[in-house]
Amino acid sequence: MSRVGIRTGAPPAQPGTWPLNLAPRPDFFDDPDRACNGQPPELFFPTKDDGKALHAALAICRRCPVMAACREWAVPISDLYGVVGGTTFKERKRIRAARAEQ
Ligand code: SF4
Repeated sequence: MSRVGIRTGAPPAQPGTWPLNLAPRPDFFDDPDRACNGQPPELFFPTKDDGKALHAALAICRRCPVMAACREWAVPISDLYGVVGGTTFKERKRIRAARAEQ
């Protein structure tokens, strides 16, 4: 099953679509209070050396009412790039590794 816009690591093309353009789209993404609702997708793809932008993206997730569900959805997807569910790509990789050892 393809997940549009996440395999290349590049932000989705259409503004305001992150992470709505992902397929399959989890039900919680329809929550109108989702903190990334209407945000520019670029915010969730900070460059490697831009700590300020990274913290800004993480701050958006931290105020999101569906963060826990979003993180649980995101962690198993190994080719999901960007900030999702209050985690970075590397953090999700570490969580997957830790869970695999349990
Ligand atoms: S946790 Fe972050 S990526 Fe997930 S829905 Fe909320 S704001 Fe969007």
